[in-house]
Amino acid sequence: MYKNGGTILDKKISIENLTVIYGKKSEEACEMLKNGDTNQRISEQTGAHIAVQDVSLEVYSKEILVIMGLSGSGKSTLLKTLNLLLRPNLGKIIVDGDNILEYNKKQLRLYRQKKTCMVFQNYGLLSHRTVLKNVEFGLEVEHVNKDERRKIAEEMIKLVGLSGWEDQYPEVLSGGMQQRVGLARAFANQPDILLMDEPFSALDPLIRDQMQIELLQLQTKLKKTIVFITHDINEAFILGDRIAIMKDGAIQQIGTPREIMMN
Ligand code: ADP
Ligand code: MG
Repeated sequence: MYKNGGTILDKKISIENLTVIYGKKSEEACEMLKNGDTNQRISEQTGAHIAVQDVSLEVYSKEILVIMGLSGSGKSTLLKTLNLLLRPNLGKIIVDGDNILEYNKKQLRLYRQKKTCMVFQNYGLLSHRTVLKNVEFGLEVEHVNKDERRKIAEEMIKLVGLSGWEDQYPEVLSGGMQQRVGLARAFANQPDILLMDEPFSALDPLIRDQMQIELLQLQTKLKKTIVFITHDINEAFILGDRIAIMKDGAIQQIGTPREIMMN
């Protein structure tokens, strides 16, 4: 439990002692790590790279947790483990009480399709589909019926300010508009958890500012649990209910923007 301005927030995700190692000899590296070898020795002997090391972190229900750090600090690696695009070498990931590392194929598919949604920097829109069809995509995969998915998609398109653009193709949209479609698509799936990896980093500053405001507005209405990655400190302070600072694969500090500012 975590108190935020008098509100008690529930734990949504608990990350416990998570380690992710890249390289062909990652298992050997993992054994060495367990035996207390230094990272330098591990890297010399195995060529493996420890991208995330012993990270423990909690994400509260309906908060925006921003993970901030320089390029190469392990942010994307950490985020990818949260929907198991990447399996960690060590540690646990508990979501709503389940260790997702123990999910079977079917559970994992449901988890990926229904509970989480990932938003990347390059929007990943499908160029041969209209705006409407892009936003409907995840619902189609889930076999939501046509009328229902149209209704949800139109509502989301309206929420991100793109009404009137439903029948256009992504190529005629600006970068900011494309990212709006990406947001609408993510929210249309109605996931509990949004995983956002520097979604606004490629946008012009003015557009980026607008998108941040828009995300906050969407969040006020839709109340998701959001893990948002950025390397931009301003963005972290604008969006984060809490901010975790990551360096060299570890979380150095975590707290509300106010707490972070005072340290
Ligand atoms: P960030 O998102 O903070 O920029 P990443 O999680 O992408 O950092 O990368 C963390 C570290 O892991 C970096 O040193 C990066 O070079 C390395 N890395 C990332 N992906 C791979 C990979 N597939 N294979 C080997 N090393 C990787
Ligand atoms: Mg990254």
